[in-house]
Amino acid sequence: MPDYISALDLFTIGIGPSSSHTVGPMRAALLFAQAVRAEGHLGATHTVTVTLFGSLGATGPGHGTTNAIVAGLSGDSPELCNPEQVLAAWDTAILNNSWKVLDKEIAFNESNFSFQPLIRLEKHSNAMKFRALDVDGNVLLEQVYYSVGGGFVEADHQLARTARPAAPHSFINAEHLLGMCDESGLTIAELAYQNEVSLHGEELLNQSLSAIWLAMENCIEQGLKSKGVLPGYLQVTRRAADMAERLAKFDQNEVSNEWLQAYAIAVNEQNASGMRVVTAPTNGAAGIIPAVGYYAMKFKGVSREVVQRDYLLVAAAVGSLYKRNASISGAEAGCQGEVGSACSMAAAGLAAVLGGTSQQIENAAEIAMEHNLGLTCDPVGGFVQMPCIERNAIAAGTAVSAVRLAMLGDGSHKISLDTVIETMRQTGIDMSSKYKETSLGGLAVNVVEC
Ligand code: SF4
Repeated sequence: MPDYISALDLFTIGIGPSSSHTVGPMRAALLFAQAVRAEGHLGATHTVTVTLFGSLGATGPGHGTTNAIVAGLSGDSPELCNPEQVLAAWDTAILNNSWKVLDKEIAFNESNFSFQPLIRLEKHSNAMKFRALDVDGNVLLEQVYYSVGGGFVEADHQLARTARPAAPHSFINAEHLLGMCDESGLTIAELAYQNEVSLHGEELLNQSLSAIWLAMENCIEQGLKSKGVLPGYLQVTRRAADMAERLAKFDQNEVSNEWLQAYAIAVNEQNASGMRVVTAPTNGAAGIIPAVGYYAMKFKGVSREVVQRDYLLVAAAVGSLYKRNASISGAEAGCQGEVGSACSMAAAGLAAVLGGTSQQIENAAEIAMEHNLGLTCDPVGGFVQMPCIERNAIAAGTAVSAVRLAMLGDGSHKISLDTVIETMRQTGIDMSSKYKETSLGGLAVNVVEC
């Protein structure tokens, strides 16, 4: 794994409801379709079969995995797809008895998909096997992909993401990062900016950060206007729009915390509806970083330019530590890996844009994760709704509280960010698989479904 993971990889514009179960599978299906064509099998392909293992087999349909794979196979990508069309992809394939590999129409039957929740492939629990078959049932091409969290995809035959040259300030942990800041005199935001410019060039970087923040803002604003019921049989009523209407009647400075929560809920309701959302660093936890950044703009006087650059870059620098040294995948580490990581990233970003020192930023990130340790993943019915939506609102508040605590100190503290990241990793390993995106434990089995 490269020492520096780019903000443009951690924050990707995609669709809901899940980075590992929707965004990753769509990317995998698209990669497979491109491989079928590249290896000259497209003409002979009569149909495609897909096997979903482990967590994808357990909660895939509730997370939009089947829609995402049908859409990805036809050539859609998370960044450019039409979310409304993706939502209809599976039903359309059933209705027409056909689906597409890129432009080629092929036969479809529900039995083309096999769900194997009890089989966990060695490399990762979110595994997918694709097979292209000719008219006689002979296998033309078979590939296995893994959706490893945050929309990242890896494959048995190759790493799906090509390796990049090393960034000038690559770091392996928070201690290393702080040491580099001390030695160079750079802030974490400046150091991250130099890294990103070296990887992408200044123009592309600035355009991309602006597009990411705009998508986050749009998601909040759209979510604050959207009413109705979320998809799925749970019939969960959207509430961000009602919250916004009520909050508008108060003295605005007295309800900043409530707005913070409404922002997070707005994003996660958009996510649960399968709409355009930024993976940050996952979809289930997608509300926290936008909510805290928007709160900084609305209530702390931080400019949009600073939020879209420094806030996002510092949050991503901390997120890269979680991805590198622990996990941002609910299937690997439970919800501490998703919501806990996002909470810690948001705290770091907020501390940075409020003028915190590197030590205070590290302290804020550490506090935010410390109190998410052990958090399990137990989405009711396999939908990224309960407890996910409210959990983002609470975690956004935790991030702001962590920053307040850290900014009242001088940055010195006993438990380091590296220690809580390692603790999160170990806790994830110890956690029963019931609590890792399988919906086989916790609230998922104790809430009566009606
Ligand atoms: S409980 Fe947490 S990790 Fe699980 S789906 Fe919801 S947000 Fe993601």
